[in-house]
Amino acid sequence: MTERNWGFRTRSLHAGGRPDSATGARAVPIYQSTSFVFEDTEDAADQFALQKFGTIYTRISNPTINAFEERIASLEGGIGSVATASGMSAEFLTAAALAGSGDNFVTSSALYGGTHTLFDVTLGRFGVEARFINGDEPEAYARSIDAKTKFLYTEIIGNPSGSIPDLDGIAEVARAHNLPLVIDGTFSTPYLCRPMEHGADIVIHSATKFIGGHGNSLGGVVSESGKFDWGSGRFPSMTDPVASYNGLNFWENFGEYAFCTKLRSEQLRDIGAAMSPTNAFLLLQGIETLPFRMDAHVANTKLVVDFLDDHEFVSWVNYAGLQSSPYFDLAQKYMPRGPGAVFTFGVKGGREAGARFIESLQLISHLANVGDARTLVIHPASTTHQQLSDENLVSGGVTPDMIRLSIGLEDIEDILWDLDQALHRVRR
Ligand SMILES: *Cc1c(COP(=O)(O)O)cnc(C)c1O
Repeated sequence: MTERNWGFRTRSLHAGGRPDSATGARAVPIYQSTSFVFEDTEDAADQFALQKFGTIYTRISNPTINAFEERIASLEGGIGSVATASGMSAEFLTAAALAGSGDNFVTSSALYGGTHTLFDVTLGRFGVEARFINGDEPEAYARSIDAKTKFLYTEIIGNPSGSIPDLDGIAEVARAHNLPLVIDGTFSTPYLCRPMEHGADIVIHSATKFIGGHGNSLGGVVSESGKFDWGSGRFPSMTDPVASYNGLNFWENFGEYAFCTKLRSEQLRDIGAAMSPTNAFLLLQGIETLPFRMDAHVANTKLVVDFLDDHEFVSWVNYAGLQSSPYFDLAQKYMPRGPGAVFTFGVKGGREAGARFIESLQLISHLANVGDARTLVIHPASTTHQQLSDENLVSGGVTPDMIRLSIGLEDIEDILWDLDQALHRVRR
C-alpha cells in the first residue's frame, strides 16, 4: 500500500477517529468511564511502569480524549498531544513540566489577560519568574535569556493587541540557546497557522475557542513537534532518573515523545487537570468543520473590518489584514488565509461611547469569550484585562476605548446592520 499524505480537511474528519474496535461505531464514542479493566496483573504492572501504552484512568488517558489528542497532533503537524481541562491548565502544566523554582522564561507581554496573571502572579509564587518583554522582537527575547531560562513564549495572534510575532526569528533565538519555543495558537488555530512549520517546539491551544467553535465546552491541548533536543544539559528533569517510574528518564526512554510523556505521566497525573470525555467528544464535533468555519469566519471578518474602517463614528481599526497594520507583512507570511476573526477598534467618544455602543447591540453577544459561531463583543479594559495596571494595559496593547469583536458565522448583512445601528445610537 502506498502512503498518502491526507489533506487538512480529510484529517479534520478522520485523524484519530478509526471505527471503534469493540462496536464498529463510526463516530468517536464517548467513553464516559473513569477507569479501564486490565488484562491481567502483568498488563497492569507494565502500564503503571510506562512499559506499555494503555488506558488506566481517565485523569491520565481515555479513548475519547486520545482521539481528540491524535486529531489535534495531526492537524498541528506534531507527533503527539496531551489534552487538558482548559487552555489555562494547558499553560500551567507546560510551565510545570519545563520550569521549577529558581528558573525563568521569557515571554511577550501581549498576552491573554488570564495568561498574564498566571505567569506574573501564580507562577511567581512557585518561584518561576516570567520575564516580560515589550513587543515581540527576537533580539528582545535574546537579551532576557540567562542560564536559568527554560523556554520562550508568545501568542499568535496576540490578544487583544492583534500582534503577529516573527516566528522564524524567535525560533532562531530559541535554537541558538537550546530553548524550546512555546506558542499559544488559540486565535489562529492549526488551519490558519501551524507554528511548528516555523520552528515552534510546543503549541498550546485553548480548544474552548475556535477549535470547539460552538461555545459549549472548555478544553486545552498541548502538542509537541518531536524535534527538540532535551539532552543539552539544560533540562535535568528530562534526563535525570524519575523515582516514581523506577528510575527511567524521559529523554532516553521516550526520545522524541519525551515532553508529551512527561506532561501526561507526571503533570497530568499529579495536577489532575484532565479533559472530560464528553468535552473531548463535543470538541471533536467542532474540529470536523474547523476548516470550513475558519474560512467563513475570516470572510465575514474582512467585510466587517472594511465596514468599520470606513465608518464615520469609528476612530481606528486594528486588524493584521489591513494594510495600515504594522503586522500586515507578518500576517501575509504566517497566515496567508487571513489573520483570524478577532480584532479591535475604537468608537469615537472613548470609554463611555464604547460602553454605550456595547449596550446598544441587539444581535451581538456581550460576553467573555472568542471563537464562537456567534459574533461576540467585549470591552477588555473593564473585563478580561481589568486586573492589569495602566502600565501593563498599555504594554499589553490595550487602550480604554478599545472594543474587541470576535466575528461569527451569521449573515454578514445582519452583523453589519447591528454594528451600524449601535454606532448610530451612541451618537443620539
Ligand atoms: C481563552 C484563552 C486562554 C485560556 O483558555 P481557557 O480554555 O479559557 O482556559 C488562553 N490563551 C488564549 C489566547 C485564550 O484566548
